[in-house]
Amino acid sequence: MEYEAIIGLETHIQLNTSSKIFCSCKADSWFDGPNTNICPVCTGMPGVLPVLNKAVVEKGALLAAAMNADLQPVSYFDRKNYFYPDLPKGYQISQYDRPLAKGGWLEVPLDGYQRRVGIWKLHLEEDAGKTKNENGQRMIDFNRCGVPLVEMVTGPDLRSADEAAAYLIRLRQLLRWIGVSEADMEKGHLRCDANVSVRLKGSETFNTKTEIKNVNSIEAVRAAINKEIERQVREYERGGKIEAWTLEWDEDTQTLKKMRSKETEADYRYFREPDLLPVHLTEAWKSAILADLPELPLARKARFIGEYGLPEYDADLLTAERSLSDYFESAVKAYGGDPKRVSNWLLNDVMRMLNESGKIAGELSLTPAYLAEIIKLVDAGTVNTNTGKALLDKVNESGKSPAQLVESEGLAKVSDAGAIRAVVEQVIAESPAEVESYRAGKVGLMGWFVGQVMKKLQGKADAQKARELFEELLK
Ligand SMILES: [Zn+2]
Repeated sequence: MEYEAIIGLETHIQLNTSSKIFCSCKADSWFDGPNTNICPVCTGMPGVLPVLNKAVVEKGALLAAAMNADLQPVSYFDRKNYFYPDLPKGYQISQYDRPLAKGGWLEVPLDGYQRRVGIWKLHLEEDAGKTKNENGQRMIDFNRCGVPLVEMVTGPDLRSADEAAAYLIRLRQLLRWIGVSEADMEKGHLRCDANVSVRLKGSETFNTKTEIKNVNSIEAVRAAINKEIERQVREYERGGKIEAWTLEWDEDTQTLKKMRSKETEADYRYFREPDLLPVHLTEAWKSAILADLPELPLARKARFIGEYGLPEYDADLLTAERSLSDYFESAVKAYGGDPKRVSNWLLNDVMRMLNESGKIAGELSLTPAYLAEIIKLVDAGTVNTNTGKALLDKVNESGKSPAQLVESEGLAKVSDAGAIRAVVEQVIAESPAEVESYRAGKVGLMGWFVGQVMKKLQGKADAQKARELFEELLK
């Protein structure tokens, strides 16, 4: 029998504001020691009052708009009451029935089809601290208390582990694109729990689901969901039933462990946070926020295909990251010729530089205008392709313009027939054995002959001319 999986994802996204959501402590403590970025507000001392960080509302609203959600003119904060050692207040300030935004969706392109994943919940909240066990002791770090989060829950719209992974990849791309989160799963900027159930294909019912927690990479999400789908199918096949467990992914053993059986939904006794005013998102404020909403990745990809005639493959790679796609567009404008030619240079050579340096495109000293200039120098025959490629690194290292480097380092292509002929004749005179083999039919040696000329002319020879001269002289 054929089964299908029903998957919904619950994500927590850490917004990259400089300070926390309700106090002025530094939000990102990745490089700091435990309990260094804390104050009476975020550690829940009696009598303190929270003050809402405006930037959190703005980044949250930008994300909501990018997810096609409806921004609410008035939203409220609520207290979610529960006890946990790393939650010093005894409650978490979150949003409940009147969140910042409602509805929304994310389009996820997949192999040959597209899935629209609905958003059921999108709200702002504060993070709790961290607990860890060390040397038999339970340690608590409050640095993370009050770090701003957006909680986002999808509908049960995903049908496989690969679709879930694709959703997370698109979400991460979007978060970085609009600049609201670093979205680094390893650092906990993007956390994901997965709800998984299976059913017979064609069935309309929703069976009991389990929840997978503690997955901190996209590959782990994929592996954990696949394991859980297999387990549930096995269970149904042998006539068993699925219980609503909460499972924890163990990265080391690549297995799921039962954390607890989920009984009834916890009663968090939500009530309005009395120390915070409602958030009034006026039309003027909303327009100011939305003015920062850039063209989104999928729209830009479609435009690259339509406007520049790029193949889908190129358009997809060029819009994987915003800085790269901005770079491409600037370079195309500066170049003025075939955009595909710019795409080739970018995806082959500039991408290599980016991978080696760990930089993003906008940080290179090789500006889009310089890249365009190099391609034009190659087009015009001023330098050959090899020199053009070498120029990329030279420009990037020195910050000097390509024309300047061609001039000062004498990189212009040697295409003077007399000069090349002299070198070709020299190579022939120095290589009697190769000449003999070539004349005996080993024509594959042509590449070697041209290579010798290149070597003697420091790579600057016009390869085509050299080849023609060898063909003439070795006949
Ligand atoms: Zn604080």
